[in-house]
Amino acid sequence: MSTREREARSLDANDPLPTLREEFLIPSAPGGDHEECAYFAGNSLGLQPRATAARVAEELQDWAEYGVEGHTDARRPWVSYHELLREPAARLVGALPHEVVAMNTLTVNLHLMMASFYRPSGARTRIVIEDTAFPSDSYAVASQAVHHGLDPAAAVVRLRPRDGEENLRTEDVVAFLEREGDTVALLMLGGVNYLTGQLMDMETLTKAGHAAGAVVGWDLAHAAGNVPLRLHDWDVDFAAWCTYKYLNSGPGAVAGCFVHERHVGNPEIPRLSGWWGTDPAVRFRMDPEIAHPASADAWALSNPPILSLAPVLVSLEIFDRVGMDALRAKSLRLTGYLADRFAEIGTIEVLTPPDPAARGTQLSVRVADARATVTRLAREHGVIADAREPDVIRFAPVPLYCTFHDCHRAAEALAAVTA
Ligand SMILES: *Cc1c(COP(=O)(O)O)cnc(C)c1O
Repeated sequence: MSTREREARSLDANDPLPTLREEFLIPSAPGGDHEECAYFAGNSLGLQPRATAARVAEELQDWAEYGVEGHTDARRPWVSYHELLREPAARLVGALPHEVVAMNTLTVNLHLMMASFYRPSGARTRIVIEDTAFPSDSYAVASQAVHHGLDPAAAVVRLRPRDGEENLRTEDVVAFLEREGDTVALLMLGGVNYLTGQLMDMETLTKAGHAAGAVVGWDLAHAAGNVPLRLHDWDVDFAAWCTYKYLNSGPGAVAGCFVHERHVGNPEIPRLSGWWGTDPAVRFRMDPEIAHPASADAWALSNPPILSLAPVLVSLEIFDRVGMDALRAKSLRLTGYLADRFAEIGTIEVLTPPDPAARGTQLSVRVADARATVTRLAREHGVIADAREPDVIRFAPVPLYCTFHDCHRAAEALAAVTA
């Protein structure tokens, strides 16, 4: 064992938050020798908790046993199943329980939120996103502009970093809002950027957006389960997040949505509605008039997919047990260690901000050919990372199941394949 490897083993053995790796199913490294891979793609698809399969099986059993009566008689009655997720989800994102709801998938929730909160009028028509927004967000905002009869080329503003820089500066976004804020209807950025891993100053930018008279929504796909959030206190108008990345709830799992308390009971806000958005006390009267509850549930449409909610519940129980603050502290240690090891390689350019307060778990590095490099990392070293064409590789040392030893493997592997 090299000195470096011994050091990584010792960091694992002495960390104040021992790894919960044994609670997850770790894929084998490609190549068939059954060695566990070093998994850094949890920002794309989190790993499966061992408890998930049994929980899904319970719902299948209850369906087999009760049929339609399972809505009320299952061990976790389906009619109110999503209520089980409310409090842990609220704790995860710093919300009041009635400000959150588990429903749909992320892009769907962004659209539902924009249907309510993107209300262009007069000169105030623009939606502000970041130039490195995830494509689904770009498509969603452009189509919302079209939906209002606007030209997306004019209605969508894409904020770019300064020349020669990789990340947006908070002061530049604030200056933009001071300068042009009276044309902005909606500011909707990623809380953590999917490409660079930059953690935005959500509190400051929410304030600046409001000072400019805009609505402020956050896409938390890469922030939920990655960094501590205080959506209520930050006065965020709305937010949405998926649960299959840091929240380990499985491919296409049910997403989360936040609507601030000051909006939830407001009858003036137009909503796209369905029967799951009516008051549960009167839902089964089958009235043609909707009676929205004063909660984020007013935006729910359909009865939720129980088989996809079960893994989210398991995941939220894990986050509740460990605590987001402890996970963030460990994530700072792991990511800091990985950043130091990447710096030692010398030739590796890291796009992610060097300031730990301005990043989450992920480090993004620039290489000549991302796809080929990621393939070699996997095949030759059992290190699973994620390529974004043409030249970015993302590594997320997820604190629940990644170890310092995994980071050691990643650094050694990256040095070898880029030598
Ligand atoms: C992962 C991700 C998505 C994916 O959207 P789905 O609707 O869940 O398929 C959207 N936006 C961002 C910023 C993402 O990181």
